[in-house]
Amino acid sequence: MVSHGPVSFDRMWADLAPVGREPSTGGYRRFAWTRTDDELREWFTGAARERGLDVVGDRAGNLWAWTADPDTHGPGLVLGSHLDSVPDGGAFDGPLGVVSAFAALDGLDRAAFRRPVGIACFADEEGARFGVACAGSRLLTGMLDADRARSLTDDGGTTMAEAMRGAGVDPAALGRDDETVRRIGTFVELHVEQGRALADGSEAVGVGSAIWPHGRWRLDLRGRADHAGTTRLDDRDDPMLALAAAVLEARAAAGRHGALATVGKVRVRPNGVNAIPSSVTAWLDARGPVDDRVRAVVEDVGRAAGADPVEESWTPATPFDGALRDRLATLLGTDGGSAPVLATGAGHDAGVLAAAGVPTAMLFVRNPTGVSHSPEEHAEADDCRAGVAALARVVAELAC
Ligand SMILES: [Zn+2]
Repeated sequence: MVSHGPVSFDRMWADLAPVGREPSTGGYRRFAWTRTDDELREWFTGAARERGLDVVGDRAGNLWAWTADPDTHGPGLVLGSHLDSVPDGGAFDGPLGVVSAFAALDGLDRAAFRRPVGIACFADEEGARFGVACAGSRLLTGMLDADRARSLTDDGGTTMAEAMRGAGVDPAALGRDDETVRRIGTFVELHVEQGRALADGSEAVGVGSAIWPHGRWRLDLRGRADHAGTTRLDDRDDPMLALAAAVLEARAAAGRHGALATVGKVRVRPNGVNAIPSSVTAWLDARGPVDDRVRAVVEDVGRAAGADPVEESWTPATPFDGALRDRLATLLGTDGGSAPVLATGAGHDAGVLAAAGVPTAMLFVRNPTGVSHSPEEHAEADDCRAGVAALARVVAELAC
């Protein structure tokens, strides 16, 4: 017998707490197709079976737990999120959406459901191991090519195909899976907020409006390797100076254009303390509410660095379903008002499904510091309960 409400949430949360936890940092290292990932997927399957839900996989490695057959009685309402993490990530990003979905179902009378309700566990959302974020949902919807996915490698040279095989999942089956997508009539992903839009307000739960346009660019900065102790300043061709200009401009241009820009990864060759570098490769992440202004940041950074930024990925603005957003904001409002509506700069599986044409919404649970992708990531227990209650109301509204 599964216990209801806060008890069921707390129990699941405690079950997951030790899985993939790194004692030295207190953060989580839950990477796709590892032993830890196996354990998380087994936990998901166990939690589903305990509740009498049917678990099915798809061609993209994602897991789906259903209250009833979505092919016969669907399409269904799907909740859920992901269980993997970034390196030394927090406990909430991903698991909060999955655990809250199970807890929400625990408090409802399933006999009243007029359509199937599913809970998704998306594979490899963070892309921490193979470098492509939302790999599971992108494969599912055909936005990530199966051959490309199979040949992606991790830092140790293991391909995604090998890693999946090691986890008992057949990489040959990878690919777009329209049959699975057709089962999703509506997708609602609950997620910890990764910013401070809700932090200073009175509401614990907000409704997503859109995912900002975002992308990644590579800067290839070339110079000439030389001796740090004997080469006169005038004689140097030092690409590290171009990097410095690029980093400072990223900050300044983001401020001017109302966007965000980050240089978070750099590769220096030969990477010696006493050698002027021969080349520096840097990666720029830029996001913001408006496509053109994000593009303007990237252009300004390229000009400052004296190099053409090479686009490695670009996702235009992804609005969530407007009617659904308004309906949920009204439903979840307190004191006669609507729930807060907010956009996010973070990518999510919900954004991939929305871009594929699935009616999709997101709920965000207040994060008091806004910190995420860090062991410091947090949500108060009362706010997590409010998130479960909000999901339960969404299910009652959309599936009963
Ligand atoms: Zn997430």
